[in-house]
Amino acid sequence: METRKLVIKNIGLILSGDMQNPIFDGDCIIAIDGKISAWGKEKDLDTEGATTLVDAKGVTLAPGLIDSHVHPVIGDYTPRQQQINWIDSTLHGGVTTLISAGEVHLPGRPKDVVGLKAMAIASQRWYENFRPSGVKVHAGAPILENGMVEQDFKDLADAGVKLLGEVGLGTVKDGKTAKQMVGWARKYGIQSTIHTGGPSIPGSGLIDADMVLETGTDVIGHINGGHSALPDDQIICLCESCTAGLEIVHNGNERAALLTLNTARELKQLDRVILGTDGPAGSGVQPLGILRMVAMLSSLGDIPAEIAFCFANGNTSRQRELDTGILEVGKCADFVLMDQAQHAPGKNILESVQMGNLPGVGMTIIDGVVTSLRSRNTPPADRLPEVI
Ligand SMILES: [Zn+2]
Repeated sequence: METRKLVIKNIGLILSGDMQNPIFDGDCIIAIDGKISAWGKEKDLDTEGATTLVDAKGVTLAPGLIDSHVHPVIGDYTPRQQQINWIDSTLHGGVTTLISAGEVHLPGRPKDVVGLKAMAIASQRWYENFRPSGVKVHAGAPILENGMVEQDFKDLADAGVKLLGEVGLGTVKDGKTAKQMVGWARKYGIQSTIHTGGPSIPGSGLIDADMVLETGTDVIGHINGGHSALPDDQIICLCESCTAGLEIVHNGNERAALLTLNTARELKQLDRVILGTDGPAGSGVQPLGILRMVAMLSSLGDIPAEIAFCFANGNTSRQRELDTGILEVGKCADFVLMDQAQHAPGKNILESVQMGNLPGVGMTIIDGVVTSLRSRNTPPADRLPEVI
């Protein structure tokens, strides 16, 4: 097959996804066959032979945003709100990767062990085989039910399942059982997360800090509640008492989100902060949810915008062991190109975001392929990247 070479030139600002070094020098990025190969000054790079050439027109490039907490079901349809194309809309919000916290909205979702395993494997496959609008959906996240044994986790892992759905959404409601199952999952390379806080909808239950800590998942799912947050002292305790990812979601409590952020900052552990929407859910879908979280945390939490963006890509990449979301040689060429929105205050995109404004998305790229142009959902920017 012919080598695919993507060259993006005239980039105004390169955000890296790396909190230690969030802004990279340069105005040009090159990707070969969908993987990042080089960046820097255009004059220093080999830009010959591009199969796709993008003129960024001076806008900002960042690794594609990652939503760490979604509830997909099938294709680009969600039964929860009877809505189609919510993933396409999310791509228009700069998100190129979605991570399932459980396909819980499937009508008639099987709760017996063989059924839930079959569904998890099928979900993993249909999103592996079909990317809605090009978006990478990591799904097939089974919900823990009583009666599962170690062999079930081995079977799931052998079949390609890499995630657990939120612990606590099924019949496993006690820390002791949950801890044992999460341990089995981890043994076979399956990542875990947990529903933190009060019940989300009728039928779900409370999960408090004691249960979260006893269970010991890799990620503390929606630490700011989905929707109802735990009391402040429990949120602080969770931040202080473990090293798990601190996932803040759009569908949660914004005050609790800021408490989590401030606690993580005091602990000098902002690298644990990752973002999700928790959509589709009772709150609907949030195509701009991740951008809104970046702007909210940057403005109300007093976080430089270039750092807040890392919560939405690089931190999640590291926490979730993904090959995207950070600017490194060999990582997937998944990008969002964006600029300060028209008439938004601030002297540049970073200042504008830190004042609480959304940027205008002008293009997304996944695996080195242009997947969307000017966003139909974000406020428009003056400058628009162009495929030449
Ligand atoms: Zn939840």
